Amino acid sequence: MALIVMKFGGTSVADVARIKSVAARVKREVEAGNQVAVVVSAMAGATNQLVAWAREASPLHDAREYDVVVASGEQVTVGLLAIALQDLGISARSWLGWQLPVRTTGAHGSARIEGIETATLLHRLGEGQVAVVAGFQGLGPDNRVTTLGRGGSDTSAVALAAALKADRCDIYTDVEGVYTADPRIVARARKIARITYEEMLELASQGAKVLQTRSVELAMNHAVRVQVLSSFTDAPGTLVVDEDEIVEKAVVSGITYSSDEARLTLRNVADRPGIAAQVFGGLAEANVNVDMIVQSSSTDGRSTDMTFTVGRADLPRALDVLQGLRGEVGYASVSSDDNVVKVSVIGVGMRSHAGVAQSMFRALADKGINIQTISTSEIKISVLIAAEYTELAVRALHTAYGLDAA
Ligand code: ADP
Ligand code: ASP
Ligand code: MG
Repeated sequence: MALIVMKFGGTSVADVARIKSVAARVKREVEAGNQVAVVVSAMAGATNQLVAWAREASPLHDAREYDVVVASGEQVTVGLLAIALQDLGISARSWLGWQLPVRTTGAHGSARIEGIETATLLHRLGEGQVAVVAGFQGLGPDNRVTTLGRGGSDTSAVALAAALKADRCDIYTDVEGVYTADPRIVARARKIARITYEEMLELASQGAKVLQTRSVELAMNHAVRVQVLSSFTDAPGTLVVDEDEIVEKAVVSGITYSSDEARLTLRNVADRPGIAAQVFGGLAEANVNVDMIVQSSSTDGRSTDMTFTVGRADLPRALDVLQGLRGEVGYASVSSDDNVVKVSVIGVGMRSHAGVAQSMFRALADKGINIQTISTSEIKISVLIAAEYTELAVRALHTAYGLDAA
């Protein structure tokens, strides 16, 4: 007998018929003798609608009330799944974040899970009851409802699996696993049977939204066995594992893209010590995360240009901060572009292979795609390009690294 956590995303619980088929899948695991905790998302599109309503009520809404609104989507699906399970003769009970509780930080809209109270759940699981837990939500230090950021149900599931010391955390979604690229963009993308935590972390943080980044971090830190698979078929999915569990390491295992980017350029910035600290210090204070940074070397020894990227939603705030720093920093002008996309090539094999970056630049050049900014890490190379070339770039790189399915 095993204790398993099963997580179902929005498309998998998009309507009552699908919730019934989720219930049937859960029933199979129960009948196989397993203890089962299920984490669910809101119905597909529900969270977007709730976010839109909060914005419509006021563009500058209170983050605490935003959480009250957007957390409600999951309340509907936990209740419906518990009913559907009971209808199949399975003992089941729903749990909202505050009822367990799932303790989080107070960062409304992007809270982090700090701990989950499991005594009651373990007791009920032991009695053979299925626990249906609302994903995406928790309880902050002030006892108000919090949410974990978009896609946060993956993190709820992994955190619950860690807290319950579950044998497995199965993430059921609308594709059959983790692919070498988003299968909706690259028709010839291949399903990856096993991927390392490290690569999955880069894939997720560079735009493959199949798992929320934080969920992969948690899985890695708590050695949770995560599996990504389809809620519509019985095909084997993707296992996220330690590097030593993979014998044949691909040089490049995946290509991702992220549209959540905006580029800023400061022209004629004084070339003296302390300038970068002022610019990036100011942005950090305003909670603006900076990602790629390029500074050209100064030709006259006096001034230089500085280009960097921020999250697209942060662009207005970043411009505001830079405007405020103009007197101190003394740049000539600032320009911005949010019609850009970051394309990344990821693989642990890069550590031991030369020429990976070169192939990327060659493949993009052959398609006439201009690279605006480059950044690298040990197992990743990212470039910023004009958004209109996204699909062309991702497909060209997929082919260039030999990832296309036969
Ligand atoms: P859920 O609602 O189940 O959480 P998401 O929409 O959050 O599902 O994530 C699944 C989606 O992630 C897929 O439909 C797919 O389009 C997208 N995706 C992006 N990159 C990848 C990738 N490399 N492998 C698999 N899916 C990916
Ligand atoms: N319902 C939330 C969202 O759409 C959480 C999730 O689906 O993981 O972001
Ligand atoms: Mg998701």
